[in-house]
Amino acid sequence: MNLSRRRLFQTGLAGSLASMLPVSAASVGASSPVRARGIIFMVSDGMSSGVLPMSEAFSQQLRKRPTAWWQLLSGPATVHGLMDTASSDSLVTDSAAASSAWSSGQRIPNSQVNISDKGRELESIGATLRTQNVRLGLVTTSKVTHATPAGFAANSVDRNDEDHIAPQYLDRAELVLGGGSKFFDAAKRGDRRDLFAEYRKAGYEVLRHRDELLASNSPKLLGTFASDHLPYSIDRAADPKLAKKVPTLAEMTRAALDRFLASDKPFLLQVEGARIDHAAHANDIGALLHDQLAFDDALAEVIAMTAAHPEILVVITSDHGNANPALNGTGAAYRRTNEHFERIARARASHEAILASWKSKPGDTSDLVALIEKSLGFTPEKEEASALLDTLAGREFAEWSHQLSNPPGLLGQISGNHTGTGWTGVSHTADPTVISSFGPGSAAFSGLVRNDQVRDKLLETLGV
Ligand SMILES: [Zn+2]
Repeated sequence: MNLSRRRLFQTGLAGSLASMLPVSAASVGASSPVRARGIIFMVSDGMSSGVLPMSEAFSQQLRKRPTAWWQLLSGPATVHGLMDTASSDSLVTDSAAASSAWSSGQRIPNSQVNISDKGRELESIGATLRTQNVRLGLVTTSKVTHATPAGFAANSVDRNDEDHIAPQYLDRAELVLGGGSKFFDAAKRGDRRDLFAEYRKAGYEVLRHRDELLASNSPKLLGTFASDHLPYSIDRAADPKLAKKVPTLAEMTRAALDRFLASDKPFLLQVEGARIDHAAHANDIGALLHDQLAFDDALAEVIAMTAAHPEILVVITSDHGNANPALNGTGAAYRRTNEHFERIARARASHEAILASWKSKPGDTSDLVALIEKSLGFTPEKEEASALLDTLAGREFAEWSHQLSNPPGLLGQISGNHTGTGWTGVSHTADPTVISSFGPGSAAFSGLVRNDQVRDKLLETLGV
């Protein structure tokens, strides 16, 4: 995208986004050809549907503008549906089975990557596209070897065998951007294989720093900007060193799309906001909403960059729900709801960062009260802090939900007492997820879509 258009978009005026939507959406309605030259498949990992209205309210409060996804929901030319997300062995899927279902066209057991319940290796969509000269890109805020990107291009009996997944992107995905450098680093891999050198030899530019990404002109990229997952957006924003080293999801998306839109070759780009899922596991509403806004910034970038490209299909969805966060009405006649919700914006750190800092320097109840006050912007009751202290020390406390009787569950509930937010547990859920799409072929993603129908729809739209 040229600078002036990017600047126009980044001014954050609702009008500028709205003015772009009809171009990308209205011009590619149901009457358009079903073939697309390229597909951008965006995944807000673990995003229960209740996250959408909360992130909209959060964006309005924090940035005085709507989210791109909310605007798509209210736009007449975008297609919407629900994704049926089960795996082959559970009503509740994990990310590995979910991404594998999209990619291979088959539901498989949780924790496996494109391996069937009979132990058979299934062809990933990345492997299929490779034979048809369709370019593949994987952009994520998790380790690039994590389940969702891996599902599009790798096979592994165990999703956690990331040493095994890392070499499989060689010449299968041209653009690989995210975290997880430890799985490419000879000093950290079990087999001491130097994958950075192997990728370089295969023509990839290896990037480790945000500045390198912003300066690069190379067509093939392997960018790993952290040893593990990229930091939560809320923690990145609080640490200038991290903000300098780690690109945002929108920046990585722009880098990938710049390359794919520069030629007329077909492509599939997966963009994953991975840490929304992790924040939901941690019942951390502040981290979750900040990462959802970062995902939405990437979506806004995609909408702006494809505005002049009606030949591109954009699909936005989630692989499964997680802990189903929601805003509860509080106060008489629910009149304190907004005031409570608005406290979320005072958070300055993720629960992960708070619990890590407590672990490195524990103290007494008043120290914990002070830490929460400083990090989350509300003052917990003494009883709340002392119960949390008990769980952190592994002592029993009165909590009848097995899902919530642990430090993340309890901290989530305490935070809920002050912000009005509630959670069903700390794990994935069976709820269907929202799927929105625009561009050629989007009509195929209306109504109830099973996750194992996605592969055929994507390949058909690409004409493969
Ligand atoms: Zn998860």
